[in-house]
Amino acid sequence: MIEVETYRQVAERTAGRVITEVIAPDDWYLKGGATAAAVRTAVTGRAVRGSRRIGKLLLLDTDGPTLGLRFGMTGRLLVDGRGPIEKLEYSSGRDDPTWVRFGLRFTDGGELRLVDPRRLGAVVLDPGVDHLGTDALSVTPAQLRKALAASRAPLKAWLLDQGRVAGLGNLLVDEILWRAGLDPARPARSLDPAEVKGLHRQVIGTVRRLMERGGSHTGDLQVARVRGATCPRDGAALQRRTIGGRTTYSCPLHQR
Ligand SMILES: [Zn+2]
Repeated sequence: MIEVETYRQVAERTAGRVITEVIAPDDWYLKGGATAAAVRTAVTGRAVRGSRRIGKLLLLDTDGPTLGLRFGMTGRLLVDGRGPIEKLEYSSGRDDPTWVRFGLRFTDGGELRLVDPRRLGAVVLDPGVDHLGTDALSVTPAQLRKALAASRAPLKAWLLDQGRVAGLGNLLVDEILWRAGLDPARPARSLDPAEVKGLHRQVIGTVRRLMERGGSHTGDLQVARVRGATCPRDGAALQRRTIGGRTTYSCPLHQR
């Protein structure tokens, strides 16, 4: 979500501009039943109102329909040829024209381009958002406490579930739990009120901090995501497990 938030800021540069042309060379990239012709008909001549983000989904609102943009692992957004100021780790600096999966041209001559080498992202017309939970940056301590209490899922899997809290990916969740001192395998409902409070503080704090640093790969635990590594906080040998289907690093000493 950190990367997507930086793309939302990039997308905001298109606010107020009028769409004159839709670039959709890859029908496979359009999801949810959309076709190039349908998207063209729906948004050509429309003005961009602004951008929003829910979890990892970027929403580009027009005075007609809304476009939903997903970036997968390797997608990035350029407006008038420029991306975010910071270069992100998973993006490639090379500009191969065949990687442009979607784009919009505006009446002022500028353009928006979604570049995605691995083709893991998607574009959806009027995406439904009911399946998404509250965005991680908006969730309140009370919401978190109530939702955690209703689940016996491991904390790690719970936080990755986009239908509960939207926006947290694998690296981010490991960093949050490491900072909060919580074992990723703990059942969600086993947290006491003080632990929920600490978790909430770290969800918000970690996202904000890594956003400033420039991406979800800039966490303190990141350097220790290798076999045989030790905890940057206390030097204990880190544990590597698969929880919620994802590789999980944690410290058996201070994460309880
Ligand atoms: Zn530790």
